[in-house]
Amino acid sequence: MAAETVRLPTLIHISYSLKVPDSRIYLSPPSVGELEIKQVVAALESGWVAPLGPEVDAFEVDLAEAAGVKYAAALSSGTAAIHLALLGLGVKPGDRVYCPTVTFGATAFAITYAGAQPVFIDAEEETWNVSPGALKKALKKDAASGQLPTAIITVDLFGRTCDYDRIMPIADKYGIPVIEDAAEALGATHGTNKAGSFGKAAIFSFNGNKIITSSGGGMLVSNDETLIEHAKFRATQAREPYPWYEHEHIGFNYRMSNILAALGRAQLSRLEEIIENRRRVHDHYQDHLAGVEGVQVVGDPPWGRSNYWITNIRIDSSIHPNGPNRVREYLETLNIESRNAWKPMHQQAVFADADSYLDGTADKIFDEGLCLPSGIELTNDDVDRIAEFVKVGLLS
Ligand SMILES: *Cc1c(COP(=O)(O)O)cnc(C)c1O
Repeated sequence: MAAETVRLPTLIHISYSLKVPDSRIYLSPPSVGELEIKQVVAALESGWVAPLGPEVDAFEVDLAEAAGVKYAAALSSGTAAIHLALLGLGVKPGDRVYCPTVTFGATAFAITYAGAQPVFIDAEEETWNVSPGALKKALKKDAASGQLPTAIITVDLFGRTCDYDRIMPIADKYGIPVIEDAAEALGATHGTNKAGSFGKAAIFSFNGNKIITSSGGGMLVSNDETLIEHAKFRATQAREPYPWYEHEHIGFNYRMSNILAALGRAQLSRLEEIIENRRRVHDHYQDHLAGVEGVQVVGDPPWGRSNYWITNIRIDSSIHPNGPNRVREYLETLNIESRNAWKPMHQQAVFADADSYLDGTADKIFDEGLCLPSGIELTNDDVDRIAEFVKVGLLS
């Protein structure tokens, strides 16, 4: 069957409708074009429609290289990857697992899937990532009361790596393994290292709004081959090597399909182009908003390159009270999507009973942080216009 006979109008429409001037501007829409269409069609035509196949194997090799690690397991989501990382590190019901309080809910949800309890740690001002100081205090206190966590999850928020020069020695001192949730950070760096290369294991997400997408999917990466093999085993219903279905462990249906891996690989081949454009968007916001009193455009951390998945601004509440909400509501009247920073997990009703180590930073970030549209199909004019609307919104 020739590729031309395959109808894919919806996909093309989603990609190009963003260019219609009066259509909604989304926070982080996927950018999917001819290359992705070609590679997905080729995967379909290859006959490998069964879940696994050569695109899955190749995506694992390509992604491991992009993250600077040896092994990878392609999974159905980033959330599944966190769950399997926790199980692989021996997290059991009743255990405690440290989690940054500023993150997307999925990080903390996965801890509960393992039957463990999340313990929330506060953020640092500069990157919004987990605070090494708060982490140190928490470990000291929990060591003294004999309730050290089984694992520590760090999150590279919005494409900015954590302060690993300080975090890793603290975790090592207590012998606690680190899982790096790099769901948002593919292509970001820390010195000469890449996001995903820190800790015992790391995870990525290819959800539709992330820096690259497989429409839905995730990856667990590690230099520990046993951990990755364990994850692949558990992710394919824990099938023992018998001619019948023999089960000695609980399994999950967590693997990525070959068709989606083809889409993910096509996107991965465009990673640098995507990051360049996310940076272009960020730079335009920076140019327009840098001089505005009480507004800070969050830039690269001191130790590496952000992938600028989402451009964040911080609006000083002493100068512009309730700034993020006022700007967001104003942009909404123009059909432009923006979003408050992640609401801290310790403020969420579902985690009301969880332990936490807090110093007020996360609460302040939530009160002052805003996420601006960052899709790569925004033109410079679009970004300049949105930045001007942000200023108007501040006065509203
Ligand atoms: C998106 C995201 C996840 C979950 O990834 P899915 O692929 O959507 O399951 C986990 N952690 C963080 C920080 C994320 O942003």
